[in-house]
Amino acid sequence: MLIFWSTKNKVNRLQDGRKETHKCSSCGKTATFYQCEVDKGVKLYGVVTLFGSQQKVMQCGECLALFKDEEDEKAMRAETERLAKEEAKREALRQQIKDEEYKQREAEVDDELAQLKKNLGK
Ligand SMILES: [Zn+2]
Repeated sequence: MLIFWSTKNKVNRLQDGRKETHKCSSCGKTATFYQCEVDKGVKLYGVVTLFGSQQKVMQCGECLALFKDEEDEKAMRAETERLAKEEAKREALRQQIKDEEYKQREAEVDDELAQLKKNLGK
């Protein structure tokens, strides 16, 4: 199901963008949809400012209605998840290194204490 987006935004049809043919829920015709890029700074329903020019939408070739490009959103979400996972891995590694450093330091302190006790015992 495509989500109706807006017809008021300025978009640039992508030369090498995706083309899809399915029924338009805006005009009801079976039309070719073209992948477009939304102009930078265009506001969605005049409320939400879109960041960057990366936002991709699908445009109905019949009535020019715009719909969210779910494939692009999915790709972006996957990329975000991948980065989050990598960050979590890095964080776990950092924690591991910290733990090892801590253990190392503990061991050194133990050695020092043992040495101190030995010296005191003399
Ligand atoms: Zn349409």
